[in-house]
Amino acid sequence: MKRRPLIAGNWKMNLSVIESRKLAEAIKKSASNATDRDVMIAPAFTSLSMVASALEGSRVLLGGQNVCWEEKGAYTAEISPPMLKELGCTFAIVGHSERRHIFHEDNVMINKRVKAAINFDLTPILCIGETLEERESNNTMPILESQLREGLQNLSLPSASAIVIAYEPVWAIGTGKTASNEQAQEAHAFTRKILADIFEKTIASQIRILYGGSVNPDNVDNLMSQDDIDGALVGGAALQPDTFDRIIHFN
Ligand code: PEP
Repeated sequence: MKRRPLIAGNWKMNLSVIESRKLAEAIKKSASNATDRDVMIAPAFTSLSMVASALEGSRVLLGGQNVCWEEKGAYTAEISPPMLKELGCTFAIVGHSERRHIFHEDNVMINKRVKAAINFDLTPILCIGETLEERESNNTMPILESQLREGLQNLSLPSASAIVIAYEPVWAIGTGKTASNEQAQEAHAFTRKILADIFEKTIASQIRILYGGSVNPDNVDNLMSQDDIDGALVGGAALQPDTFDRIIHFN
């Protein structure tokens, strides 16, 4: 079955408020004629408000780069689901490789974030992926399976569109190395199989699974032609209006 593609840009800790507004305005133009796909951008928290106003009246969706599991309280430096919603976000990236590896977020914490997002009607983009060492020791599939089972534990999913998964091999993020089309398709098909086991087959067949890891204008068309690849989560190439425009308009 064909799922609606989603092209998502993760701006990470880049761009000032003014730079963010400029890029958002360019993306608004780029996305205006890409009506058969969704486009989402996740600026730094500091730029969300400005980007939300720059995107007014456009079809570009807004997301947070993370989300807390609590609604409010003593959680220094965190951002709650209602805070993201107030700024116009409908998505939140959860469990990004940089959160897992630099900030030591584990599957238990990531599971809490996923559940909170869904409870507040924000769509989490749950990121999963293996390190190079895990791939070389033939552990890719067990790692993906445990990140999915633990990250989605005790989750009741209101609908298939309430969650998005992003497969992002850690060794391909920001390195210029991309998984081959076959490696990516294999991981995506496996992810969908585990989702069918966790939820059910019809739900799994509707959940969007994005690929992330050095997606660029040269590799996006082939990646997007794979059966189980439903979109892209883009880091570096999402920061340039021209490259992101080309990715949005993948063939
Ligand atoms: C990412 O950070 O999610 C990512 C995929 O980065 P890049 O596109 O730069 O590899």
